[in-house]
Amino acid sequence: MVQPATTRRQRSWAEPFKIKMVELLKTTTAEERQRAIAEAGYNTFLLKSQDVYIDLLTDSGVSAMSDRQWAGMMLGDEAYAGSANFYHLEATVRECYSYRHTVPTHQGRGAEHILSRLLIKPGDYVPGNMYFTTTRLHQELAGGTFVDVIVDEAHDAQHEGLFKGNVDIAKLDALVARVGAERIPYVSLATCVNMAGGQPVSMANIKALRAWCDKHGVRLVHDMTRVAENAYFIQQREAGYAHRSVASIVHEICAQTDAATMSAKKDALVNIGGFLAMNDDDLYRRACDMIVVYEGLHTYGGLAGRDMEAMAIGIRESIDDNHIKARVGQVEYLGKKLEDAGVPIVRPVGGHAVFLDAKRILPHVPQAQYPAQALAAALYVDSGVRAMERGVVSAGRDAEGRDHMPRLELVRLTIPRRVYTQAHMDVVAESVIEVAEHARDVRGLRFTYEPDVLRFFLGRFEPVA
Ligand SMILES: *Cc1c(COP(=O)(O)O)cnc(C)c1O
Repeated sequence: MVQPATTRRQRSWAEPFKIKMVELLKTTTAEERQRAIAEAGYNTFLLKSQDVYIDLLTDSGVSAMSDRQWAGMMLGDEAYAGSANFYHLEATVRECYSYRHTVPTHQGRGAEHILSRLLIKPGDYVPGNMYFTTTRLHQELAGGTFVDVIVDEAHDAQHEGLFKGNVDIAKLDALVARVGAERIPYVSLATCVNMAGGQPVSMANIKALRAWCDKHGVRLVHDMTRVAENAYFIQQREAGYAHRSVASIVHEICAQTDAATMSAKKDALVNIGGFLAMNDDDLYRRACDMIVVYEGLHTYGGLAGRDMEAMAIGIRESIDDNHIKARVGQVEYLGKKLEDAGVPIVRPVGGHAVFLDAKRILPHVPQAQYPAQALAAALYVDSGVRAMERGVVSAGRDAEGRDHMPRLELVRLTIPRRVYTQAHMDVVAESVIEVAEHARDVRGLRFTYEPDVLRFFLGRFEPVA
């Protein structure tokens, strides 16, 4: 008699797709890479992608689309107004994510811009579970002040919490006591918090937050960029969700919130696009009025019809259980290899990336000399693997011009969705281990050019003597 699957031996699993088209990769020599990183001012954002072997800069807009998405591109209805693809997208958002109204935008920050301008007044405070670069900047440009209300353990790379993305409700209470609920237009809730290392929020925390918002008459806005990855962690880790589909958990999360901004370049498996979504009719009308100024008509918002079609199809693929298991599983595979070799990484491994703890790998480089920036550059020179800094450079300066000194000084190895194989992950792990073993050779950096905003994108550096 065949035993039920649960009692049989653990079996390997593989990606739930096979490869139909490939893109050839170029390899370079160490001398070529040394030259390339110096020319790029030791900033991996300024490297040419042709000089990169395995590109883990970001998971944004770099997914491999499916054959169905590519077929959908051919169904683009490129009408200026009322494209069929918009209505497909709107219906998909309603069904999968619960939001009644959808306004497409060119990408996530387009949605953040519109939402911040509509809801934030000068002098307002916007609490959120850790800042995100573009999100906070748009809040500040609208006259608001971001307040971090994530649980303390999110700032501790070694803390083993299962839901390190959770909001600390006591910090919200303290903010209300200090400034009053009328100064808080909304709470910004990110699922699978990017800057915390891709750490999830629990459903219990989301529901507690919903109750808090109702009590204080404050809106709850969802940065849903990585909602599917968050739902997968709830399924794996939270009591009562093991037998629920990821799709149903995604819907339940969204239904707790009032509005959402989405960078579809992440979870939704497209190369460009995003949207602003909400349930409130009046907010929708005001968003439509503003979108025509900054993005395009409310039925295309800066996107081609074909892009909206690919997004609608990608949203459905992204919440499939087999897809998300393989996606997060690949990230866990790389994380485990590094951990087994004793490389300090953020624990537990998050949904979209493995984060190297640069403070512990380069203890001889002071944070004022940008250890994570230096480590990312050294990794590139070793193997052509491109990672990025998520530490003091990304955190920028405060209103008085002083560096924000975040506790987390990290290098992010971000895994694109459906792009690389397990063998690529092995190559990455070997290179990281090699660089960590020779960490003493890595020197700190100083700015030679520092932009006023979002300095990590275009800043240039040189090694300190
Ligand atoms: C990428 C991202 C954004 C911004 O989206 P873009 O599409 O890059 O403009 C906002 N929030 C989070 C959490 C993100 O990861």
